[in-house]
Amino acid sequence: MSEQDTTSSPSDPAASFFDPGMTLEQAGHIDLHLHSTASDGRLSPQALMQLCHQRGLSCAALTDHDTIDGVEAAAHEARALGMTLVPGVELSTRWQGVGIHVVALWHGSPDAAMTALLERLSRARHDRALEIAARLEKAGLDNALERAREQNPGSRLLGRPDFARALVEAGLVPDMARAFKRYLGAGKTGDVKVHWPTLEETLESTRQAGAVAVVAHPLRYRLTRRRLGLLLDEFAALGGEGAELISGYQNDDRSRDLASMLVKRGLYASLGSDFHYQGGALAPGTLSRVPRSQLVPIWQHPRLKPAFEGP
Ligand code: AMP
Ligand code: MN
Ligand code: MN
Ligand code: MN
Repeated sequence: MSEQDTTSSPSDPAASFFDPGMTLEQAGHIDLHLHSTASDGRLSPQALMQLCHQRGLSCAALTDHDTIDGVEAAAHEARALGMTLVPGVELSTRWQGVGIHVVALWHGSPDAAMTALLERLSRARHDRALEIAARLEKAGLDNALERAREQNPGSRLLGRPDFARALVEAGLVPDMARAFKRYLGAGKTGDVKVHWPTLEETLESTRQAGAVAVVAHPLRYRLTRRRLGLLLDEFAALGGEGAELISGYQNDDRSRDLASMLVKRGLYASLGSDFHYQGGALAPGTLSRVPRSQLVPIWQHPRLKPAFEGP
């Protein structure tokens, strides 16, 4: 009975397959930026795929922070649901003192270059956690590392949200938003970036891996328009091939302007909600309007096309 609730039969018209011929403006049923419990999302990869399916998505990419531990389970569940799962990861990098996120998408299994990069990121995340803990102890959070670990029973690699929850639990701040604002957000004591590979190193690895690199949420770094232009110039020059034209909710005027910036650099356009958990403003597939442009959708990238061609 419950199986029938989550599994669609072949005759179910709602189980429409993703059509890679779809233009950007027609794009529905797709979300190429999602998190699970493999990083800082709150749904298991399976539950995430079930929610995507309930919401009518036919194609999704799992893009956890610096790990692909959830990809296999998500792909398995997606197949059972008649959905397409594109393997991916959201890579932590640094560029000119800013933490920049790069979504990598590929077809098939991760190769040796991707595996080596993920191992490096796992070490970086570990070393960074020690540094964040030391800094938060100076700022008044005793036993910061142990407290962050308590927030992370699944023994995932620690992330800033684990430290944020520890700060809330210890009563140093009333909520997560304040924990980031005072301790962990950009420029604050717990915002440690030195451990991350540079943008250049990251793009060298994704290039070797044959993955397609996409600038995640370009409008969320609070860069001036000029610096965002520099980032996109450098990203394209280093072999990056795409950017998220739409990341969840964003202003239509800014989307139009971003589209023209991407066209100018010949980048492919991706779309994703950056969904982490239920109850917030976003759900899988939540996307602002796609502006009209000459941009080519990422699902038409020659190296990625086979990944989008259905289960
Ligand atoms: P990390 O990958 O460990 O550097 O942690 C960054 C993650 O923290 C982001 O991917 C978000 O999920 C989360 N985050 C960033 N800013 C905030 C905020 N102001 N409130 C809550 N969560 C945030
Ligand atoms: Mn996150
Ligand atoms: Mn991100
Ligand atoms: Mn993300």
